[in-house]
Amino acid sequence: MTSKESTLFRAGTVVDVRNGALLTDCAITVENERITSVEPWSPEQHDSHEGEFVDLSGYLVAPGLIDLHTHMIGSLAEGSYMPFLTKSASWSVLEGVRNAATTLRAGFTTVRELGTFRAFVDCDLRNAINDGIVIGPRIFAAGGYVTSSSGGGEITDLASDIELPRDFRIGVADTVDEVRRAVRTLLHGGSDLIKIIATGAGYAAGTTPGAPEYSEAEIRAAVDEAALYGKYVAAHAHGTLGALRAVRAGVRTLDHGSLIEGKEIFDAMLEHETFFVPTTYVVRWVDDQRATAAFPEEVKRKLAEARIPSMNALRTAIESGVKLAYGTDAIIFPHGENARQLQDFIDAGFSPIDTLRTATINAADAIGTLDVGVIEPGRFADLVAIKGIRSIDDVSVFNSIDLVFKGGSLVE
Ligand SMILES: [Zn+2]
Repeated sequence: MTSKESTLFRAGTVVDVRNGALLTDCAITVENERITSVEPWSPEQHDSHEGEFVDLSGYLVAPGLIDLHTHMIGSLAEGSYMPFLTKSASWSVLEGVRNAATTLRAGFTTVRELGTFRAFVDCDLRNAINDGIVIGPRIFAAGGYVTSSSGGGEITDLASDIELPRDFRIGVADTVDEVRRAVRTLLHGGSDLIKIIATGAGYAAGTTPGAPEYSEAEIRAAVDEAALYGKYVAAHAHGTLGALRAVRAGVRTLDHGSLIEGKEIFDAMLEHETFFVPTTYVVRWVDDQRATAAFPEEVKRKLAEARIPSMNALRTAIESGVKLAYGTDAIIFPHGENARQLQDFIDAGFSPIDTLRTATINAADAIGTLDVGVIEPGRFADLVAIKGIRSIDDVSVFNSIDLVFKGGSLVE
């Protein structure tokens, strides 16, 4: 992407997520894709500015949104992993190209790609976006799953005499030593972080979301090995015991937590400064499709069982003060609907600004990047703009964003 020399934005209302304030009539200057200043608007500055001018005086301008839990590659069919086996790798990547563009246009300028069954194709998509071959959000890719064999990160609804190719099973590991090998293989292959499947999963046939699939020692091996590379671990966990093991082992983010309950898990997240990334929207979305969609009965049952507990977990998380960040599990529901989960945080008791922080500054902190998440000097000029809006009291305005800028450039 070629960047323009200098761009001046006039923004009607700016969401300052760091200070929890709304700033009116601001000038944002951008050079080489990054913000250089945020100041009160002045006609003099405008007159002396050489370069492009973007008038957003009638818009609410917020930082580009961040989704910490997406799956860009391929697609699902009515609750089934089958398309990953009936379509070629290149087809899944082409679907990923479409999914990435849809996600970016919905205002999500940064995502974590938390796993693909064919290892590393998400890293290729990330690289193609970085090289300007296709458009999409900034991607932090897991590259594959570290999962126990026949566990939540495997395609499990196969006949016992069918064997998957090696690409599908690069992260399969059943002992401490195998976990270390899997982490090394994934990081050598280009993964930005490690995704470990600490419990069963809603979509993996035969697995039990409430059941742990790794010991604390096995998860700690992943955390320790990743740390040697300056990388961290995101854990998929639904049940309390699996989540506790992951948090105690030192994972950076605890994703889903749909069935977690009791005081201990929240105390542990506070003690270990773990980010909790609840995925309540996807649970509700699947449950709402129950009557009409031909999802497998097992998937419907598991998601229905998680619906009330997942909102309870979010409420308890807010009350307990754990660090919350935003992730949705997009792929199960259509890409581009990522902002619809914001309302769940409001329903669970969060203020609009705290809710927006989960999908901006908190998510950037969870990734460990100072490049995105806040409209302030030094960060990329990743911005979303919504016309005719001056407040964030109704977070549903983020469901239909009018303009998206990535690195100061308008996304077409
Ligand atoms: Zn997921």
